Amino acid sequence: MLELNRITAGYDRRAPAVREVSLSVGHGEAVGLLGPSGCGKSTLARVAALLHRPDAGTMTLDGTVVRGWRHRAPREQRTSVGVVFQQPRLSADPRLSLRELIAQPLRSTGRRAEVPARVAELAPLVGLSAELLERRPHAVSDGQLQRACLARALVLRPGLLICDEMTAMLDASTTAALVAVVERYRAESGAALLAVGHDRVLLERWCDRTVRWGEQSAERVPLG
Ligand code: ADP
Ligand code: ADP
Repeated sequence: MLELNRITAGYDRRAPAVREVSLSVGHGEAVGLLGPSGCGKSTLARVAALLHRPDAGTMTLDGTVVRGWRHRAPREQRTSVGVVFQQPRLSADPRLSLRELIAQPLRSTGRRAEVPARVAELAPLVGLSAELLERRPHAVSDGQLQRACLARALVLRPGLLICDEMTAMLDASTTAALVAVVERYRAESGAALLAVGHDRVLLERWCDRTVRWGEQSAERVPLG
């Protein structure tokens, strides 16, 4: 589903955050990427989600080489990946209600007509009441906002879901609830998962295999 081949990426070409990393995630596979804070996991997740253009290396999504990042990514590729980050407030427009936030990817791909049905389907799945859906981010908790961000990541039914420290800021019960939502989505859709984090126990329980950043492995993952 996803192949990263010798990806180098970062914010300063002289000191890349990610250096020649290769990683692959098969169709339907759940891969955990483990590593300490600051080693470049989020940067790699942003590359894989087509949000950050790498400086070198190649990437394929579902067998097709990726040639454009951000708004230049072809729609077909952009809609095949959903992503959830650690801090929901950084990726939630404060002006939008949770309902509008969940609907964002449908609106930006011109599929407004599907919004009511899809939100009605997803809200109970992620545990958001009708009343919470009408609130804006400032009026809900981090956990409630993260539930909406997960629904947004699933709204286009992506073949690959990327969870970058999705539960790092959440309590145990919200963590369990969101992990269950992802597992259910994968069981129903056959989607692949790339879960990025530092919690080995959680990732090992959640994933078919984990790749440890900094350790020798079949894949070339450098020291952070
Ligand atoms: P991790 O997810 O493993 O904690 P990150 O990918 O967030 O690692 O960060 C890797 C490195 O890139 C760190 O040194 C971090 O300070 C730097 N970095 C992350 N985001 C930015 C940014 N927007 N601008 C400049 N440097 C950044
Ligand atoms: P651009 O400026 O390239 O349009 P945006 O940040 O506005 O980029 O995002 C484009 C669309 O992608 C948004 O309208 C939203 O539908 C979707 N989107 C943004 N962030 C996320 C995310 N974390 N998960 C899922 N979809 C997102």
